[in-house]
Amino acid sequence: MHNKLVKFVQEIYETKEFIPLHAPTFTGNEKEYVNNTIESTFVSSVGKYVDQFEHQIEAYTGTAKAIATVNGTAALHTSLYMAGVKAGDLVITQALTFVATCNALYHMGAEPVFVDVSKVSLGLCPKALHAYLEDNAFINNDGLCQDKATKKFYRAVVPMHTFGHPVELDELIAVCVKWNIALVEDAAESLGSFYKGQHTGTFGDFSAISFNGNKVITTGGGGMVLCKSFDDGMHTKHVTTTAKVPHPYEFFHDEAGFNYRLPNLNAALGCAQMEVLPKFLQQKRELAQQYSNFFAGSEFTFFTEPDYAKSNYWLNAIICPNTEMRETFIKETNAQGVMTRPIWKLMHRLPMFENAKRGQLPISEWIESCLVNIPSSPVNNG
Ligand SMILES: *Cc1c(COP(=O)(O)O)cnc(C)c1O
Repeated sequence: MHNKLVKFVQEIYETKEFIPLHAPTFTGNEKEYVNNTIESTFVSSVGKYVDQFEHQIEAYTGTAKAIATVNGTAALHTSLYMAGVKAGDLVITQALTFVATCNALYHMGAEPVFVDVSKVSLGLCPKALHAYLEDNAFINNDGLCQDKATKKFYRAVVPMHTFGHPVELDELIAVCVKWNIALVEDAAESLGSFYKGQHTGTFGDFSAISFNGNKVITTGGGGMVLCKSFDDGMHTKHVTTTAKVPHPYEFFHDEAGFNYRLPNLNAALGCAQMEVLPKFLQQKRELAQQYSNFFAGSEFTFFTEPDYAKSNYWLNAIICPNTEMRETFIKETNAQGVMTRPIWKLMHRLPMFENAKRGQLPISEWIESCLVNIPSSPVNNG
């Protein structure tokens, strides 16, 4: 299978050179817009591209307010802060995620709690979440959710739309409402992914998107906080821009803010990338379809979008019959210049999170042992 895949991927990308997992593509107005920032000298935190980029994301996702940040981790940090997460709180997320999800809450002084993922989405499983809370939590007299053993507060649930596949949002929201816990979506990987027609990242009060170099579109480095309410959005902008009270010359800051602003230079790249996003998505979905056909009837399962969703297919993934075949597949394809890789190590295997509270994680462990990501850049055949 690995040799057949190498040939197949080389034909798709029309090259025998190294084929990465996901490479940025610049075929639009990127150079022109970036040059404009240099010519105007507005390369830093002020400039028209930041506002324009935020408005493009608002129009595309339908969110009330989008706030550009310096990267996706900063967007997530801000989202958790805005959702009211405080030091000593518990934040429930997936063990099957990229480390940034946990880093963001860790640096708020909160502790991660790991719950299993769903086979359908590879993201947080509503049933596992409910079962975990039934076993470990109670609602106090103020209506807040606390841990039975430690009395710490469960302040947020952070599902992650793995590889762009939307989680089961209706069911997750129902659990969050029942237990009175805020929903914050880690939508870092899911720009262009929709749940029942609504863009991911617009369900939680606050959500984070990433524009890192390997994501669907890139600003070099960058992120965006999506805010469900306009007023929360205005406050988020204030907080990410040092919380300075507007004044022609005086410096007065009314709360402890962040400097998480996205430079205009990066936003310029983002404006151009947003113009080609629909084309990228179409190309990526066509590629996913080709892979799906290729693996059909084999021992390898190509992971397809849940039936309630339209996915951006950020990273294509296959599930191997067992770990041994997974190892061979990864070794052989990489040796032939086609990049493939396993999914992230589960978060509780990392030294800083090894003592984190967690539920049973059978699906996460199975996916960790058998999944492989395969090349996923949009295919540009002119
Ligand atoms: C990429 C990513 C992030 C963070 O993005 P950066 O822009 O690299 O900080 C967060 N969470 C997940 C799941 C990601 O894939």
